[in-house]
Amino acid sequence: MRPPAEPLTIAIVGGSIGGLTAACLLADSGHDVTVYERSSTELEQRGAGIGFLEATYRYLVERAAMALSEISITTDHIRYLGRDGSVIHDAEHRYLFSSWNTVYRQLLDHWTFSLTGSGGGVDRYRLGHEMVGFEQGPDSVDVHFADRESVTADLLVCADGVGSTARSILQPDAQSAYAGYVAWRGMVQEAGLPADVVGTLSDAITYYVHANSHILVYPIPGLDGSVAEGDRLINFVWYRNYAEGQELDDLLTDCNGVHRELSVPPGAAADHHVSELRAHAAARLPSLLNEVVARTAEPFLQVVYDVEVERMVFGRVCLLGDAAFAVRPHAAAGSAKAADDGWALDRALGRIPVEGLSVPEALASWEVDRLALGRSLLARNRDLGSRSQFTNTWEPGDPDLIFGLHAPGH
Ligand SMILES: Cc1cc2nc3c(=O)[nH]c(=O)nc-3n(C[C@H](O)[C@H](O)[C@H](O)COP(=O)(O)OP(=O)(O)OC[C@H]3O[C@@H](n4cnc5c(N)ncnc54)[C@H](O)[C@@H]3O)c2cc1C
Repeated sequence: MRPPAEPLTIAIVGGSIGGLTAACLLADSGHDVTVYERSSTELEQRGAGIGFLEATYRYLVERAAMALSEISITTDHIRYLGRDGSVIHDAEHRYLFSSWNTVYRQLLDHWTFSLTGSGGGVDRYRLGHEMVGFEQGPDSVDVHFADRESVTADLLVCADGVGSTARSILQPDAQSAYAGYVAWRGMVQEAGLPADVVGTLSDAITYYVHANSHILVYPIPGLDGSVAEGDRLINFVWYRNYAEGQELDDLLTDCNGVHRELSVPPGAAADHHVSELRAHAAARLPSLLNEVVARTAEPFLQVVYDVEVERMVFGRVCLLGDAAFAVRPHAAAGSAKAADDGWALDRALGRIPVEGLSVPEALASWEVDRLALGRSLLARNRDLGSRSQFTNTWEPGDPDLIFGLHAPGH
């Protein structure tokens, strides 16, 4: 860890995986960091699964001394099923899977308990702080919150996700396009599934590809983070096309009649959509995968978008993670990109004392390869999504389909 010549006061807006990873790294480097999170309670995404790439776990393993086996599950096969449930493709390939909850909880605990007195701590994770605007002067940035509180910082990092307020202020014309499909998701505890289903699904990522759609299923830690057999969850992600306009609007209108923009959380999807999902699963999926969908108590959904920015740096304000580029999930790299942006930011700020750079100069140096990574990941995922959802050219065994941040398998 290298203390900077002069610690910077850094405000981070958004306290999820991107914001927290950056916060921990920048505090380790001696900066004065505070995280401002819109939610008034600690975040909870009910444990949805993530493919666990190195950048996502790097901080927890290298700096928080966690073992991968404590926070993830390893699978050894990529398997494709046919309509009758028979295995039509099986390749040995190691993947790690975790859950958003597990990663968030570990990062927040490290920030709250291990970094107390070294830059972190509960009072530096400020819940109920919705950033609504900011103004930059030559030497600082004033950040304004919905409750009228304002703070002054040397640097504002906006990690406020796919619906970023910062992006809408800085680049109102940024491209944000509905991909044409949503991800229906859900989890079932292993103990709640028949033993033969668990036996078949627990050592692999299992795909079923059918017309203009695909579903993937993999094991993840339990809601409490447990990786013990039986406690773990079997997680599904089923990509399904919905036409923009009335069809999508109806899907996004929840059981209380409230229209949602980005996702419909567990328990909120309208009954007729959940019934249609279950009927479709029974009619179209191999029975093994239908078991998982049918036994999921509260399926939920996330809309798939392509979000692209021209710039990530605006003086002493930057966009990080999904706030800059939000990519389709097929490379399982969204949280890895958000975390990797934080590692690169810490390196760039380390150049300030060494090379005598200003904050905007250090940020400008950071932006160059971040834009390149965002653009290439967006293009790769767009292509993968198109193969499965529109052109029906998703071929089992194609090396392009391997997860990875920088390239398939990397
Ligand atoms: C279906 C699906 C599957 C996925 N699978 C994977 C996978 O397998 N592997 C993977 O790595 N990634 C995956 N992702 C992507 C991953 O979830 C995101 O890329 C990742 O969560 C982005 O992290 P982030 O910190 O940038 O933003 P987010 O996690 O979106 O966090 C943004 C935070 O900012 C807060 N916020 C928003 N606005 C404000 C404001 N104005 N003021 C203050 N706070 C604010 C929000 O409350 C939130 O806490 C998947 C995504 C989807 C949709």
